[in-house]
Amino acid sequence: MAKDWIFKSKVYAMAAEQLRETGKWAGIDKNIIARLSMPKRSTIVSLPVKMDDGHVEEFIGYRVQHQITCGPGKGGLRYHPDVDLGEVVALAMWMSWKCGLMKLPFGGAKGGVNCDPGRLSAQETERLTRRLTYELLPVIGPQMDVMAPDVGTNAQTMAWIMDTYSQNLGVSTPEIVTGKPVEIGGIEGRRGATGYGVAVCVREMCEREGLKLKGQRVVVQGFGNVGSYAAENLWEWGAKIIGIADVTGGYIETKGFDINDAIQYVKKNGTLKGYACDKTVSSQEILELPCDILVPAALQRVITSKNAENLDCKFIGEGANGPTTPAADEILEKKGIKVVPDILCNAGGVTVSYFEWVQGIQRDFWTRAQVNQRLNDKMCSTFATVYDTAVEQSVTMRRAALGLGIKAVAKQKEARGLYP
Ligand code: NAD
Repeated sequence: MAKDWIFKSKVYAMAAEQLRETGKWAGIDKNIIARLSMPKRSTIVSLPVKMDDGHVEEFIGYRVQHQITCGPGKGGLRYHPDVDLGEVVALAMWMSWKCGLMKLPFGGAKGGVNCDPGRLSAQETERLTRRLTYELLPVIGPQMDVMAPDVGTNAQTMAWIMDTYSQNLGVSTPEIVTGKPVEIGGIEGRRGATGYGVAVCVREMCEREGLKLKGQRVVVQGFGNVGSYAAENLWEWGAKIIGIADVTGGYIETKGFDINDAIQYVKKNGTLKGYACDKTVSSQEILELPCDILVPAALQRVITSKNAENLDCKFIGEGANGPTTPAADEILEKKGIKVVPDILCNAGGVTVSYFEWVQGIQRDFWTRAQVNQRLNDKMCSTFATVYDTAVEQSVTMRRAALGLGIKAVAKQKEARGLYP
């Protein structure tokens, strides 16, 4: 009988299919694949929160440690109305492959709360976050599981987690989270690191594909942490950002947006709603806008068998986790649209999180220049490994990246054996 019914969700099915197919291709022991297809530990907590009007609302929170064979669990915390256990398990799995690919000494983890952060006040969000941290105390720790921001959470969320954890231990513990404010031990440049890494991958891809980045027409779906920094870097390096989108819709400017201006607009207004442009479309329609480079940087499963045929770009740089379904991958491969896969393209965030964790443990603080140099080097060398592997083995970059990442985790599982 299938034992994975409890994680049932489209995102989990997608992550499990990637593992199965890549495992077969890479010749990984099927016992190890079976072990890796299930998360080691899934914690579900109920979170009673006193709302501003005095009533108590129950939220459901999740923390999944897919594996902690390779080190402490590492992964973001998501606040979104669609969060469920299956989604969190899939995201935790992808963290395992990402850390394996980037050679970071972490396992894979992820967390989430099913809520609509846009409808919570700052005080309600703080109470929710502190209660979540308290409920998760038995399963988190700098050597057990380290959280970071993801969709709907930010540096402030991490500061509340760090404070709640530290209060309970009686010891200031900055290394319990990454992506926290610099004032309390955060690292310079973490906020922009994922978007910067996406931009570096796009730049490297252009070079390998014989394209000049300057003047390439780029569309970015998602204008939060990842999307806005990716757009900003690409724009500064000369690309023309002709389309941007967030939860309020898609915005098109044929001559290219001034990305600084768009970022300032979002800072002031919260979203892109009402931002001046040539034309507005839905945030899903913007994916089909003819362009050179498409950067999905919002949520998973936005490029599917339904729209893949209509995409009109030279390549895709995946800022989001899991934006392309396996069925869409096949269509894109036939169309000749290459994909720089998520576990490589958005790995800048976890890479700088690793720097921040080391910095926290050692209490030895790095400059922004040191961080950026090390990040750039790591992204470029891993990009080259993935690109070269894909060419040598005549496979897609996704298959190459997943193969490298899964193999790295499988080797450690194999070396440690099965206890008892
Ligand atoms: P965020 O909350 O800062 O931003 C999310 C953006 O997506 C917002 O602009 C939001 O309006 C937009 N959005 C939400 N629903 C949308 C929809 N249906 N259509 C279009 N846009 C929509 O989140 P983030 O941290 O930028 O994360 C974005 C993606 O990147 C996620 O898949 C996340 O898992 C992944 N990621 C984030 C990090 C990180 O360091 N923050 C690291 C690696 C991967």
